[in-house]
Amino acid sequence: MLTKSNIKKLAVLPLLFFVVLFFAFKNREDKSINNIYTVVIDAGHGGNDNGAISKNGLKEKDIALTLAKTIKELNSNNNVRIILSREIDETLSPKQRTTFLEKNKADLLISLHINTVAPNSKNKNTRGIEIHTSKGNSPFIEQSKILGNILSTNLEPMFNQRPLIMQRVNKLWLIDENGVCPSALVECGYISSSKDVALLNSQDLRKQLANAVLKTIDQYFSYKK
Ligand SMILES: [Zn+2]
Repeated sequence: MLTKSNIKKLAVLPLLFFVVLFFAFKNREDKSINNIYTVVIDAGHGGNDNGAISKNGLKEKDIALTLAKTIKELNSNNNVRIILSREIDETLSPKQRTTFLEKNKADLLISLHINTVAPNSKNKNTRGIEIHTSKGNSPFIEQSKILGNILSTNLEPMFNQRPLIMQRVNKLWLIDENGVCPSALVECGYISSSKDVALLNSQDLRKQLANAVLKTIDQYFSYKK
């Protein structure tokens, strides 16, 4: 769940375009040690901060944590170390989350949230995935866009509709404030949509989502080798 101001939709460009662009980054400093990349999966909200809540009392913070844990459990790539910014239901400030990235010398950040419509919204049927990258995530703006596009391609089949990719303009939150690594925030469906909630309640769909994120991570780093 995010405030919807200061964002603009990004055009989805063909993946090949980004693959070509990616080689422009090849000679940049590579922080990985022995090609082991550290990826932080950030489960949004937690503790006192529930995030969005569904009609039936399902909380964004819990779905995000379950998804984050599933991603960590299913990772089979020995070159990728997945760590979670929180493993339990605890309150974390944005500053604590960025400090976690710094401490662990993260190579990539994917933050997980679940979307909602405003309580008085007429668009109760709004559903699907949104991916946010940032204009403030310097010097990783272009790499973050590439990450967003690979995520979009891999997540599209899950919710049967193309994810929206948005770019934030203002420095407001975690993916902006981290100067550590490329990052993207994924709103994994709408908690206000019974269709999306049914999907998120399915263990099978959660595994598919997790595997799509893991595939994205593998593809992202395979371009860097
Ligand atoms: Zn959220």
